[in-house]
Amino acid sequence: MTLVEKGNLTHGTTGRMHGLLHSGGRYAVSDKASAEECIEENRVLRDIASHCVEETGGQFVQLEGDPDEYFEEKLAGCRECGIPAEVLSAEEAREEEPYLTKDVKRAIRVPDGAIDPFRLCVANAISAENHGGRIETHAEVVDLLGDSDRVTGVKVRHDSGPGKRTHGKAGETEEIRAEYVVNATGAWAGQIGEMAGVDIEVRPSKGVMVVMNCRQVDTVINRCRPKGDADIVVPHETTAILGTTDEEVADPEDYPEERWEVDLEPPEVGSADPTDITRDYFLLDHEERDDLHGLTSIVGGKFTTYRMMAEEISDHVCEQLGVSAECRTADVPLPGSEDESVLDAGMDRFGLRSPVARRSAQRLGSRADDVLSSADPNPVLCDCEAVTRAEVRDAIDQSGTDLNAVRIRTRASMGNCQGGFCCHRMASELHPEFDEPKAYAALDELFDERWKGERHALWGEQLSQAALNYALHATTMNRDRDPVADGQRDEEAESFDFAAFDAGESRASSRADADAADATGVADGGRHGD
Ligand SMILES: Cc1cc2nc3c(=O)[nH]c(=O)nc-3n(C[C@H](O)[C@H](O)[C@H](O)COP(=O)(O)OP(=O)(O)OC[C@H]3O[C@@H](n4cnc5c(N)ncnc54)[C@H](O)[C@@H]3O)c2cc1C
Repeated sequence: MTLVEKGNLTHGTTGRMHGLLHSGGRYAVSDKASAEECIEENRVLRDIASHCVEETGGQFVQLEGDPDEYFEEKLAGCRECGIPAEVLSAEEAREEEPYLTKDVKRAIRVPDGAIDPFRLCVANAISAENHGGRIETHAEVVDLLGDSDRVTGVKVRHDSGPGKRTHGKAGETEEIRAEYVVNATGAWAGQIGEMAGVDIEVRPSKGVMVVMNCRQVDTVINRCRPKGDADIVVPHETTAILGTTDEEVADPEDYPEERWEVDLEPPEVGSADPTDITRDYFLLDHEERDDLHGLTSIVGGKFTTYRMMAEEISDHVCEQLGVSAECRTADVPLPGSEDESVLDAGMDRFGLRSPVARRSAQRLGSRADDVLSSADPNPVLCDCEAVTRAEVRDAIDQSGTDLNAVRIRTRASMGNCQGGFCCHRMASELHPEFDEPKAYAALDELFDERWKGERHALWGEQLSQAALNYALHATTMNRDRDPVADGQRDEEAESFDFAAFDAGESRASSRADADAADATGVADGGRHGD
């Protein structure tokens, strides 16, 4: 089994979703089939991937003026679909979520949760590799092999992907022959269909979400009205995410960004959903549908139902290949959550009372023991997300110089300061295993990626933060004109006396000071230059 992905893992919609582990409550009125799938998989994922799920619970909140009939329909719909649903009075709802407005009339409590798509994807990839699968990232399918009757494989073009993964050289193409090909490319499914000469109608849509710089709520808060724009807030680690809008676009990668989409004021809250199509998924057997053997597409669905979709497509492929085997993915825990007692032991060992240790242990699951048990000092490198050096080094062991992969694995640089105080600390962990130019290149790539998330909202505090980050990275660290990065090291770099900027303090002594600080586990919050 080979998975080919043109970007990194989670490159597509998965890395940009809302982070909601659906209970199904959202679809309990309009799309009951999806609601039933969601509650089934919600239970499975809480079981097999507990280290990627935060069991926050959720509320559907009715405000004064919201229709009573819809509230009753929602409640009845949840119960019909097997979703545990309990009515809360206004007082009970506000006791659970004190920031709810005083206009709350009542609420329905459901088992919504928060899910980390990055960790869950990586856990699945590790599991696939453990079972003999090959994962090829930065490998784009540029054509299908075979003829008009049968698909016999794919032609991929390898791109650059730093790190220790096995992949071809950038620009090289490779033909991968396969007994069966599955097209699971989400919004891009139509493009693969085109290569095969079959028509797959995809209606891609874009959505805007606002990531708050603090976690205002601890449960998922939905407005109890017909589904619409900006009617849900999902707590996610140290933040809360408000969303989403839903607008159809022609191309999943090339779409306009509208002014209203970046306004702080969300569009009309609770407006009717213009694309209220089913969230169910479909398996398109191209042999049955188009007389084309060897290819099936799977489209639609939700992140919450990914495992169910994978089970259905795997069973389908097995049937085609004459393999008879029972699917076990609903029962076998994913790597990192195999054994909850290991997680508990890790939390005890590393100090449950410390939020940093708890968060590290939660992120690492059953690997916490291995990663965190070193005797080396383990300071926090990313203050906002409480990511320690041990976690960053562990991620570097797995991803090499790809600091974006390190970011995805650990969440380092994804907090409020958007990497202002930690990108350089992450890059410095690459040295001496990787040389200076590689560490600088990795740092610049990470800055580029972080900038993509910041550049659309440059006003107020976000603008101040961006200006501060610029001051740190460009002015202090000279990243806007660095002779090493410019490839002019030989001619110019040697003439720089970097020590002269340090008020006479030698590098060795400042390093010794830093080590002493590390040994005490002190995090300076980025206030001391390092
Ligand atoms: C705004 C928004 C918010 C959402 N929030 C939630 C939520 O909170 N909870 C939830 O359960 N669901 C949510 N969803 C739905 C969910 O995100 C998607 O259903 C899910 O992520 C789709 O996964 P996928 O693997 O099918 O597609 P993708 O994650 O898009 O994966 C397809 C992959 O195929 C790759 N690819 C494409 N073409 C090629 C090629 N030629 N060669 C190689 N690789 C290729 C792409 O790079 C991509 O990574 C949300 C969706 C949107 C749009």
